[in-house]
Amino acid sequence: MAKVVVIGAGFAGQTAALYLGRALGKQHDITVVNASDHFYFIPSFVWVGTGRMAPARTRFPLKPVLDRFHVRLVQGMARAIQPLEQWVRVERPGAAGDLKLDYDYLLVATGPKLNFEGTPGLGPHGGHSQSICTLPHAESARDRYLELVERMQRGQRARLVIGTGHPGATCQGAAFEYISNLHKDLVARGLRDKADLHWLSNEVALGDFGIGGIRMPPGSRAETSAAFLGAAFKEFGISWEVQKGVKAVEPGRIHWEDYEGQPGETPFDFSMLIPQFHGQRMSVEGGDGLADEIFNPAGFVKVDGIYGLPYDQLQQTPEAWPADYRNPRFPNIFAAGIAFAPPGPISQPHTSPTGLAITAAPPRTGMVAGIIGRLCALNIIDLVTRGHTSHSERMTEMAAACIASMGNSLWDGSAATILVYPIVPNYKLFPDQNGRDPFVTHMEMGLAGAWMKRMIHHTFMHKLQGRPGWQFIPE
Ligand SMILES: Cc1cc2nc3c(=O)[nH]c(=O)nc-3n(C[C@H](O)[C@H](O)[C@H](O)COP(=O)(O)OP(=O)(O)OC[C@H]3O[C@@H](n4cnc5c(N)ncnc54)[C@H](O)[C@@H]3O)c2cc1C
Repeated sequence: MAKVVVIGAGFAGQTAALYLGRALGKQHDITVVNASDHFYFIPSFVWVGTGRMAPARTRFPLKPVLDRFHVRLVQGMARAIQPLEQWVRVERPGAAGDLKLDYDYLLVATGPKLNFEGTPGLGPHGGHSQSICTLPHAESARDRYLELVERMQRGQRARLVIGTGHPGATCQGAAFEYISNLHKDLVARGLRDKADLHWLSNEVALGDFGIGGIRMPPGSRAETSAAFLGAAFKEFGISWEVQKGVKAVEPGRIHWEDYEGQPGETPFDFSMLIPQFHGQRMSVEGGDGLADEIFNPAGFVKVDGIYGLPYDQLQQTPEAWPADYRNPRFPNIFAAGIAFAPPGPISQPHTSPTGLAITAAPPRTGMVAGIIGRLCALNIIDLVTRGHTSHSERMTEMAAACIASMGNSLWDGSAATILVYPIVPNYKLFPDQNGRDPFVTHMEMGLAGAWMKRMIHHTFMHKLQGRPGWQFIPE
């Protein structure tokens, strides 16, 4: 009987758990370790953060779902891995001692560690800015925002600054969606004229999103995502600054350094800034040096990528991006979603004259996390049943769709729908087209996107609860 342990039940881990449970659950021992006993649908935190969605609608209890798939849930934090003896040590809330879980195959799907400490004064825990990265954060952002709404209703003006809170932050798409939703919400409340909305980010250009932006097919209403977003922000009356690495936040003031190394400040009454993402590094037992074979310095799991290439060379090497997400030293350890170490940035990196790296880190969205989670699960199933793997997909071969809503109304909502193929430009496949397929890569805005975004909430909540037909809903 094979023992499989999955750490993390987010998009990557929960997707993997369903596939593993369906194929192996009855005959083998599948365990999911997760910090919480609930799954959280993070993309809808944007709507929680504007008060437009009840928090309860973004989560479901994991145990009843995993029970149906013959997968055991252990609620707790995986604290250590012993890769030689193949076990994981788990700290469980309220339990006297730690639990030792043996594995034959381990999938690390622990998502990001939100590195608020990387920016003094950032974040809702003792800092001065808000976040929407966890449900309690989104609820806190909502409460602060609604207080501001009350002040605006009493006639005060307010300045809301949304963007990234670290020179190396990623997830600009979530921040973009949040600022668009704030705009829409303020319009609906008749308060838009009382608010200054401002975008502040580390991107090289507006609409870069950490994926190098996109070039539209000929005949589109804008040539690039930068022009597209510039037009949208102009229409919404949102001002913007890019190429800024936030270094500190104090009450009402964000301190940053720009591409030229110049310091500057942006004032705010309310700010939501995405922190830098690190990996959830666990301690590694079994000998000196083993930790560095599994985790990179930022805590992401090293897999089968080619690490350390200079950016220009990385751009010309699509095979540098991982294909089967297995650790080279310990091939029975897989990593999926945000947990795996990418080989480098997708966007053009920049270092200011003072030596500050201001570069949007590569995003791994929910869709990408789900795809890679499924791929890892299918390879583990292959290994258990046939002794070899047969699945691989690099981010230089993978398509992705992202929908950034503007309000959640099905009648007057809107959304920017972004399609990219491949996510990481592949100059070997598309040498003359900026590395991407011009027939697929596109960005559009309209009401249809709002319908799709709402549909995604419902279909993913359906899929990840393993309800009938779940396996036919693509990640
Ligand atoms: C506000 C917001 C909006 C977003 N909107 C979109 C969107 O519209 N579309 C999209 O595709 N993506 C979106 N994303 C990105 C998407 O949420 C992430 O890409 C996705 O959640 C990554 O999945 P994951 O499984 O890698 O990590 P997660 O979903 O973060 O899951 C990791 C899990 O591991 C658990 N965990 C961590 N460490 C341990 C440990 N040591 N032991 C046990 N458990 C542990 C965590 O508690 C968590 O349950 C958004 C992100 C944010 C913040």
